[in-house]
Amino acid sequence: MSWFVPDYAFATYRDISPEFLSAIGIKALLIDIDNTLAPYEQDTPDEHIVAWFDALAKNGIKATLVSNNGRERVELFNESLGLPAYFKSGKPFAKNLKRAMRDMGSDKSNTAMLGDQVLTDVVAGRHIGLRAIIVPPIKDRTSAFFRFKRALEVGSIKKYVKKAQKRGDSTQNVCGDAEKTCAFWLEGRYSAKYLKNHAN
Ligand SMILES: [Mg+2]
Repeated sequence: MSWFVPDYAFATYRDISPEFLSAIGIKALLIDIDNTLAPYEQDTPDEHIVAWFDALAKNGIKATLVSNNGRERVELFNESLGLPAYFKSGKPFAKNLKRAMRDMGSDKSNTAMLGDQVLTDVVAGRHIGLRAIIVPPIKDRTSAFFRFKRALEVGSIKKYVKKAQKRGDSTQNVCGDAEKTCAFWLEGRYSAKYLKNHAN
């Protein structure tokens, strides 16, 4: 289990079905908010997010929001969802992930971390031996610092793609084409050059 390489990548959180989670033995999910479920500027969950959480619950999969963002953001976002939720979680440290697991009564064998960042979400999960699922950011911040962080993730994602292609099992089919799923990183969509060329 590598600290920096996720186990699965999906194009969006909506592509992660309860059936897939059950098939890989996941009964509890720890979920990042910003750029995983919604962009920073989206204050409240839309119907897709609500439907996805409903589907998880109906299939007996527990969920907890674990965000590094502040109380206000997390509480407002979670108001209609009413999930267990942690703000200022300090990922990549795993303190709140552990608390969340304790509350859900899950353990590392049946819990996964879902997020959009290798260096916070994936590493936080790995700290306590969890499997990690990554999605490309919905609408990434474009500051130099964020672009730098994204550039650091590329090596991890390349390793993931190799792993997924080699695995070639049914989970890869569920995840879709790994290269396509990870195009955000592989095509440098976070880079200044890409953003300039694709500005509209
Ligand atoms: Mg995030």
